[in-house]
Amino acid sequence: MNLVLLGPPGAGKGTQAERLVEKYGLVQISTGDMFRAALAQKTPMGLEAKKYMDSGALVPDQVVEGLVAERLSADDLRSGFILDGFPRNTHQADALDRILSDDGRRLDLVLNIVVDPELLVERLTGRRVCRDCGYNYHVSFNPPAEENTCVACGGEIYQRDDDNVATVRERLRVYEEQTEPVIDYYRPTGRLVDIDGSASPDEVFVDIVSAFERAGTGTR
Ligand code: ADP
Ligand code: ADP
Ligand code: ZN
Repeated sequence: MNLVLLGPPGAGKGTQAERLVEKYGLVQISTGDMFRAALAQKTPMGLEAKKYMDSGALVPDQVVEGLVAERLSADDLRSGFILDGFPRNTHQADALDRILSDDGRRLDLVLNIVVDPELLVERLTGRRVCRDCGYNYHVSFNPPAEENTCVACGGEIYQRDDDNVATVRERLRVYEEQTEPVIDYYRPTGRLVDIDGSASPDEVFVDIVSAFERAGTGTR
C-alpha cells in the first residue's frame, strides 16, 4: 500500500506515520526529516533548505521533487511507503503522479488529517523531538518520562527552530494557501479519506487503521 498523509503542520502526521510503520512495515518518507538530516550533515542542500524552513516557507519544488524522486526509486519500498509532508502543493502532487506512473505504481490511499487550527499552535509550540530517532513528544500531551531524554533510544530531546509562535503562524498560513488545494486535487480520485485528528493519538490511529484496511480490501 502506498499512502500520502496530508494535513496541516501539527496535525499528527509524524505521530501516526510512526504507528503505521510499526504495524504494517511500510517505509516512512518525511521530506521535513530528510531536510533536517541534510542540515545536520551540513550538505549544500540542507543549508539551502534551512533558509526556507526558518521562515516557514516551502523549499522550492525542484529541490523537493528531485529528492522524493530519488527516494522513491530505492528498492526498499516493496511493502509500500507513507509520504509524510509531501506533496505540499499541486505542482508537487502532479510531479508525484508522474514519478509513480512512470514505473507503473500509484497511490492507494490519501489520508487527510483534519484538526482545528487553534489546537495546532499549541501542539507545535509544545512539540519536542528526539535528535537521534525523531520520536515526537509534547510538553503537555506526551511528555518524556525523563526530561530531555528519549524513552525510545536515550537520545537528546530538542525543540525544532521552526516551532516558535511566529514561524508556526507563517507555516499555517502557507498551509492554507498552498497545501489545502492538494485536498481538492485528490478528492476526485476517490482515494482520499478524511480523518478527525483532534482526538487522542490512539483514537486517531483506530480510524486510520480502519481506512487502511478498507482501502486494502477495495471497500471504502
Ligand atoms: P505533524 O507531523 O503533522 O507536524 P506531529 O506528529 O509532529 O505532527 O505532532 C505535532 C505535536 O502534537 C507533537 O508534539 C505530538 O506529540 C503532538 N500530537 C500528535 N498527535 C496528537 C494528538 N492526537 N493529540 C495531542 N497531541 C498530539
Ligand atoms: P510539519 O509537518 O511539522 O509542518 P515538516 O517537518 O514536514 O513540518 O516540514 C518542515 C519544513 O520543511 C517546512 O516548513 C518546509 O520549509 C520544509 N518542507 C518539508 N516538506 C516540504 C515540501 N514537500 N515542500 C516544500 N518544503 C517542504
Ligand atoms: Zn529517540
